[in-house]
Amino acid sequence: MFNAIRTYPAPESLAEARAYDGEDVYVELRKIFFDKCYLCETNDPHDINVEHFVAHEGDVQIKYDWGNLYFACSRCNNIKSNVFNEIIDCCDPAHDAFRSIKLLPPLSPRGKTVIVTPTNEDPRTIKTSELLKKIFNSDHTINKRISSEFLRSKIFKQYNLLLDQIDSYFDPVATTDQKANSIARMRVLMQKSMPYSAFIRWCILEDNVLGPILAGDMD
Ligand SMILES: [Zn+2]
Repeated sequence: MFNAIRTYPAPESLAEARAYDGEDVYVELRKIFFDKCYLCETNDPHDINVEHFVAHEGDVQIKYDWGNLYFACSRCNNIKSNVFNEIIDCCDPAHDAFRSIKLLPPLSPRGKTVIVTPTNEDPRTIKTSELLKKIFNSDHTINKRISSEFLRSKIFKQYNLLLDQIDSYFDPVATTDQKANSIARMRVLMQKSMPYSAFIRWCILEDNVLGPILAGDMD
């Protein structure tokens, strides 16, 4: 996951309390969340929902509250449903969405799992870990199994882009310029605007050489 900064004032259409998913809401959420699902980090998702962080269950106040609206793909929205209300709030600066949960990519394009590890005991962290395990590793229905396989293959693809740069950096005949270029490219891959940035960042942090070089750039 990644932290995002919500912008104010709220989109005008919300004041009318007729639709929570007006075009202005989509446009603003898309910018705030870098055009990524805030849960699985898939970018430019083909099926996007305006998601209620706390399920509104008919409560008008919550339904049109700008602070309660998030950008999620329909798959994550469906899995989160009204069961996961108490999760890490990536728009709250008091919550460290990235560091609270360690995410490591699958080991192969068809890898069965990604590794989801909470890094603290906070109940929100634990609940979020449960949700992310369902999102990334779910196999309880055939549909979810196929879609999670597809999701993991995309994460692996992004991880491979990182491996290319890691390989270049540690090439025994790499010049100083080439090493600097690899580091610059890793910096691009770990930007919050890039897909699956939390996975990329954790892989870098796991490395004894690259972690210390790049940890300071993980906002
Ligand atoms: Zn998603």
